[in-house]
Amino acid sequence: MTATLNANELFSKLESIKVGGTTCRYPIEKCEQLTPLINEINQIKKEKNALILAHSYVSPEIIYGVSDFVGDSYYLSKQARDSNSDIIVFAAVKFMAETAKILSPDKTVLIPSQNNGCTLADSITGAQVAALRQQHPNHTFVCYINTTADVKARCEVCVTSSNVYDIVEKIPNDKIFFLPDRFMGQNIINEMARRGVEKEILYSDGTCYVHEEYDPEMIQFIKSEYPGIDVISHPECKPEVLAESDFVGSTSELINYVSKSAHKDFFVLTECGLTGRIQAEFPEKRLVGTCTMCRYMKSNTLENILSSLKAPGPHNQITLERDVMDKARGCIDNMFRYTA
Ligand code: SF4
Repeated sequence: MTATLNANELFSKLESIKVGGTTCRYPIEKCEQLTPLINEINQIKKEKNALILAHSYVSPEIIYGVSDFVGDSYYLSKQARDSNSDIIVFAAVKFMAETAKILSPDKTVLIPSQNNGCTLADSITGAQVAALRQQHPNHTFVCYINTTADVKARCEVCVTSSNVYDIVEKIPNDKIFFLPDRFMGQNIINEMARRGVEKEILYSDGTCYVHEEYDPEMIQFIKSEYPGIDVISHPECKPEVLAESDFVGSTSELINYVSKSAHKDFFVLTECGLTGRIQAEFPEKRLVGTCTMCRYMKSNTLENILSSLKAPGPHNQITLERDVMDKARGCIDNMFRYTA
């Protein structure tokens, strides 16, 4: 997105969004305040041959004002790899920007926010994985994409929420160690049992603090208040939540499901940036229930995107050792091989 945007155009994109109390509301006055900053970012982006990637969980003014691509971490990293841009600004969290750097080692990759952690990625270190490998030498180590480069470098195969079950099933070893998400580990066990696949699945103890908030009682309450509502959830939720859901998928799969569904009412169990996207892109759909924000994703702002583009500081630059990058790329390439 590089053309100049006026406040009315921004308003028409954002007016349907009503999530998070008063946090994500876009009256015309707010759009008038935002557009000068948006246009300044888009101008500098053009001058510097930069690409801005936005995860679905960041704020709507980033997604609809300055981003070139929006989606999940896997999709965005592929966009980074395939682009001709010299600079990638990754409006998301650090492990995602690291993945872009691993796939595009010669590009400058910038992360706007300094509060760029993730409770899943931060739950385990490379040294802890090395220790686990010594305890479980016969297991294939499978890591979720929500891991640091150092952790990926010590695992055999990386997976995303959209391919995890198929890859675990295909791995020619009946002993798997999955990390870092405890709930996804439990969900893998349930899915393998449903598919009739016999494997020993061990897992580590991380959780996403956003998705662990949801519980089946919430769903039962919403279903009793809105009979016939479609409940859609992300695989980082607890197994009991998935069991009560009508559809489970990655953020891209959830958006895709809503776009094709004949249902009007949805209860969406994932970070509320996705709720905002559904409201903006499918204003005829009705969303009810909770909205949970990720403090890390929401720490990306137009202001820190502008400053990282204009004068990136050391905290904005993603730098990784060549050896770590090469090993981590091998782990990600194995995912591409399993999904080819
Ligand atoms: S929503 Fe959860 S998994 Fe995603 S970045 Fe935030 S803490 Fe990490």
